[in-house]
Amino acid sequence: MSSEVVLQVNSKFSSKYKGGYPLIHQEAITNSRDLKVEGTIIKLVDEKKNFIGKGYYGRQNKGYGWIISQNEHESLNQAFFKRKLTAAIQERRSFYEDKETTAFRVFNGEGDGIGGFTIDYFDGYYLINWYSKGIYTFQPLIIEALKEVVEFKAIYEKKRFDRDGKYIEDDEFVVGKRGEFPIIVKENGVRFAIYLNEGAMVGVFLDQRHVRKTIMEKYSNGKSVLNTFSYTGAFSIFAALGGATKTTSVDLANRSLNRTIEQFSINDIDFEAQDIIVEDVFKYFKYAVKKELKFDTVILDPPSFARSKKHTFSASKDYKNLLKEAIAITEDNGTIVASTNCSSFGMKKFKGFIKDAFKEMNMDYQLMEEFSLPEDFKTIKEFKEGDYLKVVFIKKIG
Ligand code: SAH
Repeated sequence: MSSEVVLQVNSKFSSKYKGGYPLIHQEAITNSRDLKVEGTIIKLVDEKKNFIGKGYYGRQNKGYGWIISQNEHESLNQAFFKRKLTAAIQERRSFYEDKETTAFRVFNGEGDGIGGFTIDYFDGYYLINWYSKGIYTFQPLIIEALKEVVEFKAIYEKKRFDRDGKYIEDDEFVVGKRGEFPIIVKENGVRFAIYLNEGAMVGVFLDQRHVRKTIMEKYSNGKSVLNTFSYTGAFSIFAALGGATKTTSVDLANRSLNRTIEQFSINDIDFEAQDIIVEDVFKYFKYAVKKELKFDTVILDPPSFARSKKHTFSASKDYKNLLKEAIAITEDNGTIVASTNCSSFGMKKFKGFIKDAFKEMNMDYQLMEEFSLPEDFKTIKEFKEGDYLKVVFIKKIG
């Protein structure tokens, strides 16, 4: 079994951890040197050696591990994991019963009580993402617990950790009957082709479910829609189904072309009536300005950080400029859908970028609606960073 180490919280941080903050930061610990092997059980105590919480050592981004129990006598064994999984599944009952949506998040890390891994459901297939070597030491217990609480076609996993925090290529199949990919799942009746065996990105980002539906229902009918950083074209599919006159999808990655064609096709949409462009978005903006192209709805959903040949994009530094490029090619009274999954800033700062971008472009705007994570991506108030998604619908006033 895993060994145990007692970590003492620096007094400056003890009220934060006593209040339920779950992520262990190196600077909050007086004796982080004592952490040697990932997966070691941590007992967190205050400066008077009073118990605060129990967790494990696992390196993930800036974190050194997660507190996962407030009970000193609770064993972190299979029964513990089973209790947590059962509770999470119970809360997703309505998702399991919904025939029109067959893909959702079952377990959202710290939001469901255990930081470091997530579980998604794709029509009978379960996909676990592991974010540290530390949590992976519990993999056999968690898999056994999951097998006890759900029926499944198969369980797949992705190891999202190595020295650079990158994804490790590996056999991703764990147990069950291997799937034949793509499998087809549904979201509000719309189909998605899912590949669980080809790397970290499986075809859809489940956290944008409400945004896709809103684009389809309110911002597409009779409109031209530009979808930048389009990946498999998920927003374009919903826009087309919502009655868009045309969608234009732009993504740098070669694989996005075939995947977007596939997504349109499985939803019986003629992809040849749509534009699917493999190109750097920033280059496309210049092209659109030169050709005087304008769009009624412009969707911006960049990664938090991306490097292309000519550009480095960092959401926290460059989102304002991205918005300015979008404003220039949005029709008057058109809509910009500004989305970011960057956890290093909150909604207030994001709205600041929007304000500054419109000001610098000498344009007025109106905030129409905003979204954060959907219910299945459960978050806790003690860990604001976990509530990373920010989406704002902005009307450009002409
Ligand atoms: N909006 C998508 C998800 C975007 S994922 C959805 O809802 O499904 C981020 C995408 O941005 C990736 O597919 C990546 O290839 C693309 N990307 C990163 N930098 C880019 C750039 N400079 N120009 C165009 N696409 C880029």
